[in-house]
Amino acid sequence: MASLKRFDPDIYRAILNETKREHENLELIASENFVSEAVLEAQGSVLTNKYAEGYPHARWYNGCHNVDTVEEIAVERAKKIFGAEHVNVQPHSGTQANMVIYFAMLKPGDTVLAMDLACGGHLSHGHPHNFSGKFYKIVPYGVSRETETIDYDQVQALAKEHRPKMILAGASAYPRLIDFKRFRQIADSVGAFLFVDIAHIAGLVAAGLHQNPVEYAEFVSSTTHKTMRGPRGGFIMCRRQFAKMIDSNVFPGLQGGPLMHVIAAKAVCFKEALSPEFKSYQKRILKNCKAFASEMARLGYRIVAGGTDTHLFLVDLTSKNITGKEAAAVLDRAGITVNKNLIPYDKQSPFVTSGVRIGTPAVTTRGMKEPEMRFIAQLIDRVLSEPTSERVLDEVRKEVKKLVNRFPLYKNLIKRLKNS
Ligand code: PLP
Repeated sequence: MASLKRFDPDIYRAILNETKREHENLELIASENFVSEAVLEAQGSVLTNKYAEGYPHARWYNGCHNVDTVEEIAVERAKKIFGAEHVNVQPHSGTQANMVIYFAMLKPGDTVLAMDLACGGHLSHGHPHNFSGKFYKIVPYGVSRETETIDYDQVQALAKEHRPKMILAGASAYPRLIDFKRFRQIADSVGAFLFVDIAHIAGLVAAGLHQNPVEYAEFVSSTTHKTMRGPRGGFIMCRRQFAKMIDSNVFPGLQGGPLMHVIAAKAVCFKEALSPEFKSYQKRILKNCKAFASEMARLGYRIVAGGTDTHLFLVDLTSKNITGKEAAAVLDRAGITVNKNLIPYDKQSPFVTSGVRIGTPAVTTRGMKEPEMRFIAQLIDRVLSEPTSERVLDEVRKEVKKLVNRFPLYKNLIKRLKNS
């Protein structure tokens, strides 16, 4: 980055500082991860220069033969990973991928049954300030008060009552497995389309560690940057008969030129996902998450839904007399990054919350295993037990520093940046 350093030292310094921050902190945000240097290189390439509106061999611009190769490879790899009949890798983000599916299949005012945001759904599943909540009639389904897991009987009853055009499954903060087969049965019983958003769990699905919704749903959307560990972006999978509709709603429907450098990075991420190491990595995420959640439970914290089958879990802080907002802020000062999160039937507002969401994809990428998960749980407990103690914060910060130095991240990159 010698040229960047020379021309724009402010941006160069911010990038260097962010690289160091990522190394120095314990990243437990469930939707974040650390991409490989191969992904970074693809994304930082000259492909950013190329306009490629359209699709391979049917572009509106000339000179697209190289980016055609890139896009075709990305599509073929995604098809192979998920067994999809058709894949579109152009959506710039997960939200945009979702928007494409709504636009392709619905008219404004149509009814959609989707996971309640207060129970783990995503903004694009019907938040009133999101396009989804503004354009469509959203009927939310939630989780059972007792088990805090999806109440499929309630979903069935709501479907029968409201006759939705589309049912949306998938979530941002749901720690248990989702039964897509059951969702298919419910959708069929009322003649609805099934759309599954696997933004969070795509890596688990790719590794065969979660039911694959491609078998059951007409439409599946995802991001590439969470458990998939690729660049920030989205993609859509669908049945062959919907291919044209999906493609034309991406371009020219909702986007202009695709980000070919990002698509190249998606292709690299998909190649990584096809490797045996990726499967081991995903298994390790799950083992780490279970160990982490069990240790938090042992330390006296209530784990929502009684535990986890995925890469994340939710901690109810009610009995600890600290809100999610306060907990996330004080942990951040100790070098531990989590996010505040509503727990089911939370009495606090979404800005305050009674819980935090903890995920293991990023720390697992660093090579950490169960002993480190238990240790981090103990560090979290130390901070949350004495949140106003500067001494405790200082001690924990030192422990975090020792730990991250045992599992360096982007070490060579930092060295190269400094030397450039
Ligand atoms: N869908 C789900 C379930 C998510 O959790 C997220 C992001 O957190 C998205 C979609 C949106 O992804 P993006 O931030 O790329 O728009």
